[in-house]
Amino acid sequence: MVYDVCVVGAGMVGSAAAKWLCKLQQDTKICLIGPLEPTEKEWNDGRREVFASHYDEGRVTRELDADYTWGLLGKRSIQRYKEIEEESGIKFYNEVGCAFIDTKGNQNMQKFKETARKLAIQHEIFNCKTFQEKFPYLRVNHDSECIWTAKRAGHISPRKLVAAQQKIASSLGCDVIHEVVTTVSEVTSQDGDTVMRVSSESGRMIFARRVLLCTGAFTNFHSILPKDRKLDFNMCKTFVVKAELSEQDAMKMSDMPSMLLDNKNCYVLPPIKYPDGKYYLKLGLWFSLDNQFDDIQGAAEWFRSHGKNYDTSKTLDVLRELVPDIRPLGLTTDSCIASVTPTGQLFCDMLNPRLGVLIGMNGLGAKCSNEIGRMGASMISKGSWNYDLNSDLFKVQCKKNVLHGKL
Ligand SMILES: Cc1cc2nc3c(=O)[nH]c(=O)nc-3n(C[C@H](O)[C@H](O)[C@H](O)COP(=O)(O)OP(=O)(O)OC[C@H]3O[C@@H](n4cnc5c(N)ncnc54)[C@H](O)[C@@H]3O)c2cc1C
Repeated sequence: MVYDVCVVGAGMVGSAAAKWLCKLQQDTKICLIGPLEPTEKEWNDGRREVFASHYDEGRVTRELDADYTWGLLGKRSIQRYKEIEEESGIKFYNEVGCAFIDTKGNQNMQKFKETARKLAIQHEIFNCKTFQEKFPYLRVNHDSECIWTAKRAGHISPRKLVAAQQKIASSLGCDVIHEVVTTVSEVTSQDGDTVMRVSSESGRMIFARRVLLCTGAFTNFHSILPKDRKLDFNMCKTFVVKAELSEQDAMKMSDMPSMLLDNKNCYVLPPIKYPDGKYYLKLGLWFSLDNQFDDIQGAAEWFRSHGKNYDTSKTLDVLRELVPDIRPLGLTTDSCIASVTPTGQLFCDMLNPRLGVLIGMNGLGAKCSNEIGRMGASMISKGSWNYDLNSDLFKVQCKKNVLHGKL
């Protein structure tokens, strides 16, 4: 049997794309292939090499962004959260608002205001005093300015959003297969047609007319790209600290919004209840281009480390400054990878008439994943660009002079 489209990578973007493929063209046969979140045993035995960026309960979501395109993709995604929750029966969105804080007059602050204007996003501006009147348990620098959006902003559970998208996709007939793909190649079928063959670690072979790669940071590994091609993006280490709070303390901060502290180079999520029943307030630093990987072993090791050997002092200083009365019961760390493109935009493009890519989320893909999935699904179902934004923005770039086995 030959699928119309096989989506490789069952993360936030791939799961959304698979759902949209089923929705956009009924009666098409769609397959989504990618491994599940590792089990405790798989985290520990050291054999797992492919990971995703959604093994967590909190991602900041907001329409506002310094960049208009990312803002628009966020806005279009958030508009459909309710619909996804209703269709799947899985709740993943908490509309607690989002505060963007920076030193008054800074360039990024101006860009956020500009995007707010262009996208007609409802917002308020606070200074240090008015911000602290609203959130008395939080402290910001006296020269800070805050753009506050109460609506269509807050946080989402990336795990639950993935589950919701896959549930809807399955209900619309998508076959979901939990395996790692080792090769993607063109072959000639018995009828003489050229089709794509997707082979998995277990030896399973899937045939499809077209393939969409949504393989995130791991796209340049295995043999899933055409020979001698590697996509031009950086794999940047990201690292978070989670402060465990008592239920009582978490409740005291129940109106806390998601926050972007640009002058501290980090983002903060309010206390969220995790599957272990405990409440964690999470803080992460923006990624840095200095922290990168050359091979799959290094990337996998970074995921498996959960950031345990990383220096937490800078992150904790920011946390104590922001919430001076915080009394964490414990601290845990976690690690992940952001795929950062040279253009700052994601890649959504066809590498050839049968193979498309949808990768390079620049640390912004969770909130926008539903719309990005729609953009990729529209493209791969047609075999060429099919979205109302300029395709040049999303053109894929490949690395030059790729040596065998080296990125
Ligand atoms: C710590 C951290 C905090 C973040 N915070 C935010 C935030 O607050 N707001 C926000 O919007 N975004 C945030 N992001 C970014 C967001 O989580 C990512 O952009 C998004 O999850 C990327 O989704 P993806 O599906 O493109 O890639 P990935 O999550 O990397 O998924 C790729 C999938 O492909 C699979 N795969 C890879 N190779 C293969 C293969 N060979 N065969 C089969 N499957 C394969 C993987 O298993 C994975 O499931 C954050 C990211 C991190 C790491």
